[in-house]
Amino acid sequence: MAMKTGDAFVPKQLSEHLKESLPDVYVDDLLITLKYFIDEEEPHLWIEEHEVCMRCEHKPCLYFCPVGVYTLGSDGKIQVAYQSCVECGSCRIGCPYTNIGWVLPRGGFGVAYKFG
Ligand code: SF4
Ligand code: SF4
Repeated sequence: MAMKTGDAFVPKQLSEHLKESLPDVYVDDLLITLKYFIDEEEPHLWIEEHEVCMRCEHKPCLYFCPVGVYTLGSDGKIQVAYQSCVECGSCRIGCPYTNIGWVLPRGGFGVAYKFG
């Protein structure tokens, strides 16, 4: 069922105490440590109905994905570069119309994280 979007996205400010307790993390530095095993045959992300996106006023998917998987094409449709997905799961809850299809990549595909 569709949910109503708010009028604007106002970022919440962090408290000074919380800011001081957070480590300096540079996402780009982390991203270059990842390995991707791309499934060229079965994308694990897709737009359910492009007509719904056309009516989606703020298109938050263009902003919440940490690696910019979603872009707006010249035809006005949302494009999905699923190959870059780091499987954070944000788009499962971030699309106000639950219009993004999302499954885990098939076994052997997807992103591989290196810890330590
Ligand atoms: S995928 Fe969701 S958030 Fe993005 S434009 Fe479509 S309906 Fe809006
Ligand atoms: S799961 Fe995360 S990284 Fe992948 S498309 Fe969704 S928001 Fe982007």
